[in-house]
Amino acid sequence: MKAIPTASDSRAWATIDLTALQNNLERARAFRPDAHVVAVVKANAYGHGALPVAHALRSRLRAGDCFGVASLDEALELRNSGLTEPILLLEGVFDAQQQAVAVEQSCSLVIHSLFQLDLLQQYLAANPAPAASLTVWLKIDTGMHRLGLSPQEFAQVWQALAGEAAVGKRIIMSHFACADDIGSDMTARQLALLERTLDAAGVAQEQREISVAASSGIQLWPQSHYQWLRPGIMLYGGTAVAGEYAIERGIAPVMTLKARLIAIKQVAAGESIGYGASHVCEREQRIGVISIGYGDGYPRRMPGGTPVLVKCQVAGQSRTRQVPLCGRVSMDMTIVDLTDCPDARVGDEVVLWGEGLPADEIAQRCGTIAYELFCQVTPRVHFIYA
Ligand SMILES: *Cc1c(COP(=O)(O)O)cnc(C)c1O
Repeated sequence: MKAIPTASDSRAWATIDLTALQNNLERARAFRPDAHVVAVVKANAYGHGALPVAHALRSRLRAGDCFGVASLDEALELRNSGLTEPILLLEGVFDAQQQAVAVEQSCSLVIHSLFQLDLLQQYLAANPAPAASLTVWLKIDTGMHRLGLSPQEFAQVWQALAGEAAVGKRIIMSHFACADDIGSDMTARQLALLERTLDAAGVAQEQREISVAASSGIQLWPQSHYQWLRPGIMLYGGTAVAGEYAIERGIAPVMTLKARLIAIKQVAAGESIGYGASHVCEREQRIGVISIGYGDGYPRRMPGGTPVLVKCQVAGQSRTRQVPLCGRVSMDMTIVDLTDCPDARVGDEVVLWGEGLPADEIAQRCGTIAYELFCQVTPRVHFIYA
């Protein structure tokens, strides 16, 4: 029988703090307590594990809230695990078969393109009385130019759905391109175009149920809150604000990525370290090898000097020391400089990001965002939920 892995026998593991996750949802909601929430759990809950995350968030959803996923596959994974809450397909469906399954599985649909209106209308022509009335989200392209109906297409879809008896609710949505940047005027322009589009389509004020704000809109643009919030990264403790760390706004880390020191050695001045001999020792160095690499999702492009935390034992007390990465990250291992950390011993735990070391900071070091770091953690890493 295969033993259940524990931290003590893992070479690389991630702890997921489900209480922090739940608290982060409450923080998001606190920005607009009377709004509904789409808890975004796409991409395996940003690499955190869709099922444990969704089940932990369930108790924090209110009537009318829903989960948001990118695809029907992701929705079915949630449904098959017993989740009964509404699920929103953020990109809608792509063919007639998906259309049918989505309705059967009570998933709400986004219509971002006219072909999706056709799919829905063909489905309803064949199935005029679905078990429950459908909620349809109409996505307007207000300037990001990724997904969304043009203002004219929106008016057409809005009218067409008014004539479908099976459609109970029409929710209007859009997505911002630059909401992470408080200095950008793009967000105000997108909101103005949204309002103009609704006016032009003759959508009455009392018909306007609107969803625009993702994590950045929630935190920076109160005028974008309307009736729905769609938090993603802020649930997982990453920042959605350019140049900031989430922790500065009271959003707690959820994932802490850990490994172990598996070797320590002295290297003489003038010797080089790691693949490509990219690091040459200017002095005698005490180096440590840690059991994580790009095969686990710690990016190969992480530069020398990136901070790593070592949990040392000093006279029976746990002490955390920050040490710099040194040389090239390899598939299974990464090297750190322990010269100024004499307390480190083989077997000590190290933290690559998370508790005490913001993923936002580590992401910045290698020119990306915490979203990508989280999504790239590989299945070799053991996940431990607490
Ligand atoms: C992913 C996604 C979100 C969540 O975005 P965050 O920046 O992670 O909060 C919200 N809305 C849509 C349409 C998305 O695709």
